Amino acid sequence: MTDLQKVLLALLLSLSLAACDQPGGEVPDPVDPGPEEPDDPMEPGPIEPDPDEPDPIPEEEFLEDSEGREFSYVPVGDLLPNSGPGHQDTTIYRPDILFPLEDAAFLNSQVYRYGGSQGSLNGMEGWQCETSNYDYPWQDTFCESRSRSQIMCPDGGHEGVDIRPATCIPESGATHWAVAVEDGRIVGLDGSKYTVRLQTEDGTLYRYLHLKMNQLAVADGQFVTKGQRIGKVSNDFYNSAGDLVPTTYHLHFEMYQNYAPDEETDPVFDQVNPYMTLVNAYEKKLRAQ
Ligand SMILES: [Zn+2]
Repeated sequence: MTDLQKVLLALLLSLSLAACDQPGGEVPDPVDPGPEEPDDPMEPGPIEPDPDEPDPIPEEEFLEDSEGREFSYVPVGDLLPNSGPGHQDTTIYRPDILFPLEDAAFLNSQVYRYGGSQGSLNGMEGWQCETSNYDYPWQDTFCESRSRSQIMCPDGGHEGVDIRPATCIPESGATHWAVAVEDGRIVGLDGSKYTVRLQTEDGTLYRYLHLKMNQLAVADGQFVTKGQRIGKVSNDFYNSAGDLVPTTYHLHFEMYQNYAPDEETDPVFDQVNPYMTLVNAYEKKLRAQ
């Protein structure tokens, strides 16, 4: 080892020992360089994004149903054109309910789409089994134009949402079960022509319409548990004159809560928009499968 090498070795050793003397053996922070120099106006600025480049896709959750179709939904309150005002209500009223159908399902209009009496308004003439009726995205139908009014649709509106089952029953002949979304009790069934009511212990009321009423799996007054089968999705419906007038094959689903439109108004127990509650329940169902 030459003298120069010895000097260098001693220098290196003293430097590493000095580093070890620092608490925790950490190397001290570099000296703060102080505030940054202002940008030189002649320097090129940050590179502008190329407008032709697509925006980076935000990280999203892709959920598929049992058939491998990707679930998507139109925002709440965003109804089909010419079909009513809708009601923008992002509240998930009941975050723990089960989705009311066992299989895949499609929320969309029964009146303003293929097979509905007003389908031609949006160029959707055809029959209810049209493929696009049985596909995503879901679309809200709460406060779709109707003559009946309630707290959220004071000028008249559909008081629930309509849910098509996994397959179009006139074509498939399949059975699709509606289930209890929560533990509760079947109430007011006697004399009811096309409505099954399920009430929970805390008073929340759900209404299931158009099930196959002569083949229900429950009786009036019966206690049911979450997920228990209630009845088969069907098209049972009667007009106000009491005549049987079959509707499309779907479940009309309603949810009642105490609701006040503002702080000055006393709450009313009435139908609220269940759309986001159902989106939440369906996403949970897809995640779990
Ligand atoms: Zn309906």
